[in-house]
Amino acid sequence: MIFRIIKYLLLSILGFILIVFLVLFTPAIWRHWVTYPRLEKEVSAFQKLRKEPIVLTKMNTYRGVIHVHSYLSHDSKGTLNDIIPAAKSDGIDFIFLTDHPHGNIDTIPKGYKGFYDGVLIEPGSEKQGFDTWPLDSTIIDWSVDKDTIAKNIIAGGGIIFYAHTEEPHNWANPFYHGMEIYNFHTDTKDESLPPQIINFIVNGNRYRPWALREMFDEQTSILSLWDSLNLKRQIVGFSAVDTHENQNIRAKYLKDGRIQWIGPNAKAIDTMEVKFWNKWLFNQPDKDGWVFKWMIDTYKDGFNYITNYVLADSLSVPSLAENLKRGHLYTAFKSLGDAKGFMYYSKNQKDSLSGIMGDSVRVDQVKSLNAVSPFPGQFRLIHEGKIVNILAGERYQFSWAEPIEKGGYRIEIHIKLNGKLVPWLYSNPIYIY
Ligand SMILES: [Zn+2]
Repeated sequence: MIFRIIKYLLLSILGFILIVFLVLFTPAIWRHWVTYPRLEKEVSAFQKLRKEPIVLTKMNTYRGVIHVHSYLSHDSKGTLNDIIPAAKSDGIDFIFLTDHPHGNIDTIPKGYKGFYDGVLIEPGSEKQGFDTWPLDSTIIDWSVDKDTIAKNIIAGGGIIFYAHTEEPHNWANPFYHGMEIYNFHTDTKDESLPPQIINFIVNGNRYRPWALREMFDEQTSILSLWDSLNLKRQIVGFSAVDTHENQNIRAKYLKDGRIQWIGPNAKAIDTMEVKFWNKWLFNQPDKDGWVFKWMIDTYKDGFNYITNYVLADSLSVPSLAENLKRGHLYTAFKSLGDAKGFMYYSKNQKDSLSGIMGDSVRVDQVKSLNAVSPFPGQFRLIHEGKIVNILAGERYQFSWAEPIEKGGYRIEIHIKLNGKLVPWLYSNPIYIY
């Protein structure tokens, strides 16, 4: 009798565990065998459609990631050994770092600065809701009020943007250049963590870009905030990868021969002796000493997820900074398709170029708004927050039937993915006055 009870009890416990496992893991396993292989095929077919568009300006286009953390932030351990190979394999030309200051002390003078294996790095800070680069070794005075901080950065010739634009900021402050219109970290905030972690356990190895993409949501409220701010003056829009390479589990040897485990947000979680039973977990130390790594947010996948494309004369900090401030940039989800070659411009009555994205152009210098793209898609022309025209193809042209309505006009390109249109590219506006 008692054995029979134990038998049924064990069977029901096993059954329960099996059901819980199925409920938790089925969506991720389905994606592994069905959804992600199909998406991969879809995107590789899309990428074959690439055609180099005509070149319209003498300016070059540089791919860059803005808002990135290194070991100088309390919540990252990233070094050049991680950052540079990632940038090289993703075709990234420049990185604008934003390390968290230590208290009120910036890490900028200690930060990476200059060319590393061809990749240009400029150190900056993220604090008090700003992404900022003084562009020299100035220490920012973080003890004054926020608006004064921004004013001082501008007076010194630096760049100042609002970061994490889902949070409140003094949007009326006249002293800032622009804002994040997409931040990967912002986008992940509405996700519930356990299903994402299970998805990474199942798909993190083979389908990591898709597992990251699983968290994507169109940032409609941030985009409409951006449009509304552009009614008053130019506010440059850019994307932030906000990569820390810190959502992971890693281990390295301590000097005393024990192993230290580092968990999410670069926090130490445990220290242990190496014994015969756990030795199999550890590899030879890599360049930074890691003997174990299980990663979610790598630099490589972060840099490829969304990228800024800046039009500039040369790959140098002064030229990039000047053009960033002027809004001569667009941003695109690069893992779907590399947007280098895109151009958005206005033409005058003589059919010659009168301005590009970010420019203010006098109304008598505009006959049409035009865009070319390396990939076909659905072009949407957005005027002061409203879609005023939609056209599918790889070239875009818009002219007004009636007198030209002044104001900012920006382009979005949406592409078909998994049966739905998703945003692929956002340009800065052309301002007609
Ligand atoms: Zn950050």
